[in-house]
Amino acid sequence: MHLARFPRVKLCHAPTPLEFMPNLTRELGGPQLWIKRDDCTGVATGGNKNRKLEYLMGDALAQGATHIVTQGAVQSNHVRQTAAVCAKLGLKCTALLEHRVQTNDSAYLDGGNVLLDRLMGINIEYRPGGTDMQAAIEEVGAKLAAAGEKPYLIPGGGSNAVGALGYAHVALELLAQANEIGLRIDRLVHATGSAGTQAGLVAGLVALNSGIRVLGIGVRNPRDRQEAAVHKLAEATAQKLGAPPVPRDAVEANCDYVGEGYGIPTRGMEEAVIMLARTEGIFLDPVYSGKGMAGLIDLIRKGQFAKDENVVFLHTGGQAGLFAYQDALTRAAA
Ligand SMILES: *Cc1c(COP(=O)(O)O)cnc(C)c1O
Repeated sequence: MHLARFPRVKLCHAPTPLEFMPNLTRELGGPQLWIKRDDCTGVATGGNKNRKLEYLMGDALAQGATHIVTQGAVQSNHVRQTAAVCAKLGLKCTALLEHRVQTNDSAYLDGGNVLLDRLMGINIEYRPGGTDMQAAIEEVGAKLAAAGEKPYLIPGGGSNAVGALGYAHVALELLAQANEIGLRIDRLVHATGSAGTQAGLVAGLVALNSGIRVLGIGVRNPRDRQEAAVHKLAEATAQKLGAPPVPRDAVEANCDYVGEGYGIPTRGMEEAVIMLARTEGIFLDPVYSGKGMAGLIDLIRKGQFAKDENVVFLHTGGQAGLFAYQDALTRAAA
């Protein structure tokens, strides 16, 4: 797995720490719980999208791009990280924000990630919930091209085979860290949405013959759809890497913790956010890592892990979103 064959812009503070969580482990009575701090990738308060953007921006610069076009939900962490990278690299940036979550709450509409997007001065356009957002960025890209720009389109979440290389890279990084400290990782758990994180990890971990099983906790789609999306992208990533095909059973998602829908708070998410804050001083986010950890906590309580197993939770970031959910979280913390 020779990642240096692909263009890359080094953006992240990496390797990110791999830390033991003694208090959370005690609180839940085992398994041994570790955390990989990809919330600390540096750019724009950190997060998993910066990993993908290293390879996406490498590709964009290699193609001579002048203007990055991407999309996400209103509180998209991906858009915030893309905006920051564009500022850093001197590229124009247009983001289409989908009203995927129906709300009139000004904290959601203007706070959190949106405030940070505005500070960075990118072009923001809004689209109604349910819009075909990929078609929408293609339309904007065509207009920019007609006006003489060189647009580069990044799909939602940066999830294509180029972006997923960033998480194949993390597979290598994590394995090196575990080998160095003598940690046998049994399971890697994280929140899965647009699928690029899990696809890159699985492609990398399979290619490296790691024996580490990955469990994605879904935040949007039902299980069948999520696993199919991850597997398809993992296959494309493996192909790009020249690695062997990814077995279908290497892709596992649990989508029982979505609740009413994408971006809608659940009791489990609120409990997880508060538990991590109070035991380890670590902030999760309400849309992704909070629901991911809620899934992990529930599966631990259901006895799905042995006490001596080493479980690593990949913290994918998103804390800026906490400020968009101020009311729900204030109530939950009382
Ligand atoms: C985007 C995101 C995820 C999900 O990653 P995908 O690659 O889209 O599956 C998880 N956590 C946070 C905080 C995110 O912003």
